[in-house]
Amino acid sequence: MLTDRLRNEFVALLGEDRVHTDPAILALYASDETPKSCLPEAVLFPAGHDHAAGIVAIAAREKLPITPRGAGSGNVGGALPTPGSLVVSFECMNHILEFDPDNRLMVVEPGVVTDDIDELAATAGLMYAPDPGSGAYSRIGGNLAMNAAGPRAVKYGTTRDHVLGLRAVLGDGREIRTGSRTTKYATGYDLTRLLVGSEGTLALITEATLKLLPAPRRVATLRVCYASNRTACEAVIRAMRQPVVPYALEFMDHRSIEAIREYGAVEGLPYGTQAILMAEVEGDAEDIPRYLAALECALRGDGLLEIQSGFSPKEITHLWTARKSLSHAVKKIAPLKINEDVVVPVAKLADLVDAIDKLGHKHGLPLVAFGHAGNGNLHVNIMVHQNDADEMARARACRLELVETVLGLSGSLSGEHGIGSEKRPFVSLEFEPATLDLMRQIKTLFDPHGILNPGKKLPD
Ligand SMILES: Cc1cc2nc3c(=O)[nH]c(=O)nc-3n(C[C@H](O)[C@H](O)[C@H](O)COP(=O)(O)OP(=O)(O)OC[C@H]3O[C@@H](n4cnc5c(N)ncnc54)[C@H](O)[C@@H]3O)c2cc1C
Repeated sequence: MLTDRLRNEFVALLGEDRVHTDPAILALYASDETPKSCLPEAVLFPAGHDHAAGIVAIAAREKLPITPRGAGSGNVGGALPTPGSLVVSFECMNHILEFDPDNRLMVVEPGVVTDDIDELAATAGLMYAPDPGSGAYSRIGGNLAMNAAGPRAVKYGTTRDHVLGLRAVLGDGREIRTGSRTTKYATGYDLTRLLVGSEGTLALITEATLKLLPAPRRVATLRVCYASNRTACEAVIRAMRQPVVPYALEFMDHRSIEAIREYGAVEGLPYGTQAILMAEVEGDAEDIPRYLAALECALRGDGLLEIQSGFSPKEITHLWTARKSLSHAVKKIAPLKINEDVVVPVAKLADLVDAIDKLGHKHGLPLVAFGHAGNGNLHVNIMVHQNDADEMARARACRLELVETVLGLSGSLSGEHGIGSEKRPFVSLEFEPATLDLMRQIKTLFDPHGILNPGKKLPD
């Protein structure tokens, strides 16, 4: 329990209504999307940068761990409290501070909902490119901390590629500002790119200057069916080798297709469909037919069963709703999904799906794979019943083999979900000891007392 003295100190800093120790409130902030929970000592709601800096100064003095939090939609335990920690929720720091269409930038607080940024940008013919499936509720601070991404990353990159600068609080309460308001910048070390993806372990992000791009003028969508996972992924490799970069290139295996059947978006598939690609191009109206023809040409090949185009806007929304529902829809296969978010160089994608099929058979477990194929990034879900000890043991073995396979294909543990608490055991498989040592030294420089999101990102 937080002592009365400390509670009073936080109340003096933030005000009574921004300091919560009521067990019912603590329970609401005890978990994220992972099936784990831990009650924090208190939940604090800073209203601005100075509040966040004041909280860290007190926590640093008292050596109290801090768990930063956006919407709690992360699926690796990043916002999962550690015992004795203070949850710092950025929900109330939800203001768009500046929208500057002339310089194509927006300055936001970390609690702004991701999709609201894109919606405001659209009013001036601009877009904020990162589009995670959780964008309707995730907060930009969480996106920055995880280097989130979505289907548009295949053409425009991840959150890290759309941040010009940051304001943040280090683990001893000091304020730093990184980057600039310009699209070119060659001064000092690039701390912006270091902080993006640091999962709240180096600093609390209190403000971000985001880069905006011209919004797409027109988008055209293809739904392409294949007879196997491998032939669909070979088509992805061909599509990524030709010059028209897709606006989206998403993959769903047969279990994913079954999981979203009730959405109606996969009706009338040709007999024998085992995998679907959703592919999009964007451009001016006169460019679209040429871009579509180039993409279609690349997508034709062994195993192709059907290419469908000419969808109405309603049908396209329907397709994307179904695709974005997958994260939850797969839970009908088994109650617990062990969600891996692996990424390989795109030319290795067909080898990855072969390996996933083999692992499923070897361990007798349903594996569901879908995701951002154009980036070589698949969400591989090992579906299990957590009460079945034998199944859980096979799932652990399967998970380790999946990670080893991905690293053997020159890939990485995570394309966008991050490491959090859940993937830490595997991090030392990916990095040499010297690289990990340097990361730990960086952590100590930014957070000398080790209070910022301990137990996350780096292995012990
Ligand atoms: C249905 C569903 C679909 C999803 N789709 C995608 C997807 O397409 N792409 C993708 O990348 N992810 C996806 N995710 C995962 C998740 O939504 C993202 O990781 C998102 O970025 C998390 O944002 P959040 O606001 O919920 O952050 P939280 O989960 O609250 O926190 C995430 C991390 O950020 C840290 N953090 C939060 N705010 C700050 C701050 N201001 N300063 C420092 N650290 C901070 C937290 O400590 C934690 O480590 C999905 C999740 C779900 C449930």
